[in-house]
Amino acid sequence: MTDVNREIRLVSRPQGFPRPEDFELAETPVPEPAEGEILVRNAFMSVDPYMRGRMNDVKSYVPPFQIGEALQGGVVGEVVASRADGIAEGDWVSHMLGWREWAVVEARGAQPIDVAAARPEAYLGVLGITGLTAYVGLFDIGRLADGETVFVSGAAGAVGSIAGQIAKVKGCTVIGSTGSPEKVAWLREIGFDHAFDYKTADLRTELAEAAPRGIELYFDNVGGDHLQAALGALRPHGRVVACGMISRYNDEQPTPGPTNLPLVVGKRLRLQGFIVSDHLDRRPAFLAELGGWLRDGTVVARETVADGIENAPGAFIGLLRGENLGKMLVKVGPAPSS
Ligand code: NDP
Repeated sequence: MTDVNREIRLVSRPQGFPRPEDFELAETPVPEPAEGEILVRNAFMSVDPYMRGRMNDVKSYVPPFQIGEALQGGVVGEVVASRADGIAEGDWVSHMLGWREWAVVEARGAQPIDVAAARPEAYLGVLGITGLTAYVGLFDIGRLADGETVFVSGAAGAVGSIAGQIAKVKGCTVIGSTGSPEKVAWLREIGFDHAFDYKTADLRTELAEAAPRGIELYFDNVGGDHLQAALGALRPHGRVVACGMISRYNDEQPTPGPTNLPLVVGKRLRLQGFIVSDHLDRRPAFLAELGGWLRDGTVVARETVADGIENAPGAFIGLLRGENLGKMLVKVGPAPSS
């Protein structure tokens, strides 16, 4: 076993779009677990848009990352030493000390995962926070009903691709927007009824053509121009699930919101945001239902995997640029031996 751990630290707060120089690769000794702790060899780490907000020095629902310290985020890995009851060497767990190859974690901060039942990557994506976000967003926040017309933005990303496929299971007509012709083709392949490239198409025209009678539910991953177009396309009493607003995350100055907000009143719309971690009680229902759809192939999950901790900043910048299809991950250590 090596005695060197490599980790990614934040060295400056990005101004606008993050640059590789905002991050550094550092080496530390592999830490030793104390009583009640485990040592994990991390295998796959999650790369998520919300991390961009944590790079700013502002108060939010999660504290900002600190300059000079390793970043954090969802990760799965194998327990290589345990000083905690109930967790043994060789177990696989998910925890929040990603962006490093080795992590010492308090046992209560680690959840066991079953790598015989599903690939470890899945626990960061479709069977993890990503899938739960799509599930809670659609059913609890959006109150999805069978057969509705649903628009999903960021549709070829991690959350969007699962949200769109769940809506298809429920017999909905599903429209998806995404950022390249290849992603459009994939959305059609996985069952979206209409898919378009927002970089070359006019949002209002596409929505009017795909849903001449309007949409009932908008699952918003993007905000900005997409939210504006969706407000225009929503039918009376329509709903907006405000899941994320990635088009705004790198703004250096606040930009004006949709200019057509008065439509919320006239159309009696409901717009609700949510944070998935408030809904962890929904995990059992989500795993039972989505797990079944995954097993029978009704829902498919894709991942884009960068290799090596040194490529994690590039993967994060790539995520913000749209270089991922499905869930963006970084492989930072060995996968389970089969
Ligand atoms: P994705 O896998 O969707 O990756 C982000 C995608 O955003 C990129 O691939 C890119 O795809 C798209 N994008 C980037 N910039 C823009 C832009 N200016 N306009 C339109 N699209 C853009 O990430 P996730 O699935 O992890 O997250 C999706 C959304 O859900 C994010 O807004 C995130 O913050 C939010 N989220 C919210 C949670 C909650 O609890 N509320 C939990 C998890 C995620 P493209 O090629 O299509 O441009």
